[in-house]
Amino acid sequence: MNQVDYLRISLVDRCNFRCLYCMPEGSDLEYVLQQDLLTQEELTTLLREVFIPVGFTRFRLTGGEPLIRPGVVDIVRTIAQFPETQDLSMTTNAFLLESMAQDLYDAGLRRINISLDSLEPETFDRIIGNRGRSRWQQVWGGIQTAYRIGFNPLKLNVVVIPGINDHEVLDLAALSVDREWHVRFIEFMPIGNGELFNDQGWIDSETIRQQIRKRWGLTEANVRGNGPADVFKIPGAKGTLGFISQMSECFCDRCNRMRLSADGWLRPCLLNEIGQIDLRTQLRSGVSTRELRQQVSELLGLKPEINYKQRQSGTTGKYHRTMSQIGG
Ligand code: SAM
Ligand code: SF4
Repeated sequence: MNQVDYLRISLVDRCNFRCLYCMPEGSDLEYVLQQDLLTQEELTTLLREVFIPVGFTRFRLTGGEPLIRPGVVDIVRTIAQFPETQDLSMTTNAFLLESMAQDLYDAGLRRINISLDSLEPETFDRIIGNRGRSRWQQVWGGIQTAYRIGFNPLKLNVVVIPGINDHEVLDLAALSVDREWHVRFIEFMPIGNGELFNDQGWIDSETIRQQIRKRWGLTEANVRGNGPADVFKIPGAKGTLGFISQMSECFCDRCNRMRLSADGWLRPCLLNEIGQIDLRTQLRSGVSTRELRQQVSELLGLKPEINYKQRQSGTTGKYHRTMSQIGG
């Protein structure tokens, strides 16, 4: 049985981008009210007195866009300093990274995943819903800065959308050749923008691998990280290519994670709402952390069953929440 020791923490549900596949312009999103966000102090209490005691040791900060959360550097420092923390990472769109990367590194962050869906500024801006001055260069600058500072591993997340950025698969894969950058292709899921998903469809990982294999060859890299990626390598490349195939290949049975939303809901599964716990309301109404620990422990016990149920129902259903709301 998988040990569930990995918590994805959403620091905020808002974002400075409007990615087509996540929270497109015009979508009707209900944001968490400021007063309902977990405060830094509440988050620290939950980690120290609930999550760490029940066995969580690996944490990822995500969102929405985690870098727009005030105090994010302090949050990183606090989590990095817990003696039990074995791993701390962040997923970001990197728009604000250039100026923040050194502070984040100094606070103890070493691993970073950056979303980069295109190398063409025009396509990039189309994907992120930007109509003003191109934002590509600033994101690219953030990636270069993080690399120079020494973030390692540095992973680049790509969601491939047919007709939008699928013509760039080889160019994006090539980023793994000369530098130790790890490019990860994530299958597009019908979360966030079901219409786009229905219009454009999605591309499975094996189709992407075939394109890459035809161009350079592809060997299996003998790596298994925290996550669900299948990892390969272009022969001779410094970095790797990961494939996250949650649409074509259900990996619920190896799921090792839970998610804490920005408003303090603990969710055992990305794809359904079984068993979720409202930790913030309980904490604020005086429920003891001992009682919350008990609830989280029980939920951990239920996780294999939840994984099994999700595995039976598959991954192609309709979901009410976006990745930015759940903390993708
Ligand atoms: N804003 C940060 C970012 O974009 O890296 C962190 C949050 S974002 C919700 C986390 C990841 O979810 C990103 O890599 C993004 O590409 C992915 N994501 C969002 N919506 C998705 C969808 N419909 N299908 C697949 N991946 C999605
Ligand atoms: Fe924002 Fe990340 Fe969602 Fe894009 S994928 S809209 S950057 S939260």
